[in-house]
Amino acid sequence: MPTLSDYRHLSTGKVRELYEVDDELLLMVATDRISAYDYVLPSPIPDKGRVLTATSVFFFDLLGDVVPNHLVAYDDPRIPDEVRGRALLVRRLEMLPVECVARGYLTGSGLTDYQATGEVCGIPLPGGLIEASMLPEPIFTPATKAAIGEHDDNISFERVVDLIGRPLAEQIRDLTVTLYERAAAHALTRGVLVADTKLEFGLLGDQVVLGDELVTPDSSRFWPTFGYRPGQVQPSFDKQYVRDWLTSDASGWDRHSGQEPPALPDNVIGATRNRYIEAYELISGRRFSDWIG
Ligand code: ATP
Ligand code: MG
Repeated sequence: MPTLSDYRHLSTGKVRELYEVDDELLLMVATDRISAYDYVLPSPIPDKGRVLTATSVFFFDLLGDVVPNHLVAYDDPRIPDEVRGRALLVRRLEMLPVECVARGYLTGSGLTDYQATGEVCGIPLPGGLIEASMLPEPIFTPATKAAIGEHDDNISFERVVDLIGRPLAEQIRDLTVTLYERAAAHALTRGVLVADTKLEFGLLGDQVVLGDELVTPDSSRFWPTFGYRPGQVQPSFDKQYVRDWLTSDASGWDRHSGQEPPALPDNVIGATRNRYIEAYELISGRRFSDWIG
């Protein structure tokens, strides 16, 4: 049985750690870290890494007919015991330098851009849209990866063409929208609105392969369909309690102060853990207690 220290550590993200298994394989490990308001919080959410990994596995399976993906195994002797259930063995890809975002609803940086220009990533939208409006059809709103601690920058489709060429740009645009539509249609039948999602693609030779994580709460906005009401910021399915507490007087924290956020109280940690599990079980129709690890 290998241990994590047998593998070369490649990088640390806000939530995940990447290791090299060999020339062709990587180990993607999801931790229990949680971020909010662009900070990694000092309190981990128990089981979050396993829930997110289970969610990605569910969607890689559901959407596997759309495009090949990087998932090789989630239950495998090459995965160390200490990260079993929250690590994926994946094919190593040459990642394309584009964060592929599809949006079905208007919020966040999409809404900000729309309010300033009437467009998102160069796509003109009808007038009169408001916070959380459903778009006439899902749109591709690519971004470039920003440095650690910075927001990704929205870019136009023509900028993607400049970066990777038109045929590849069109291919990942169309795949992104199709994958989003399929995932969102599925989640909708389970009471969850997927407002938007971020995908990453890479190349294996000249084949386009879907990488990274897939339609998880960290890469997507999940809203409960119950109570959906455009015109106001929708409660986040997973981070609602965390955000509500951090912005309440009880936390004593000002998100614009530049100070690190405080540790979460146990009841907020517990309620948030339950929310992640609930989202997974709702969307997948599977029981989290059946997941490995
Ligand atoms: P952030 O915390 O903002 O997400 P990050 O994207 O650098 O930062 P992670 O998402 O944890 O951090 O890191 C995953 C990294 O692995 C990303 O850089 C992603 O592009 C890369 N990646 C994902 N799948 C593959 C793959 N199959 N082959 C090679 N690299 C991959
Ligand atoms: Mg990432």
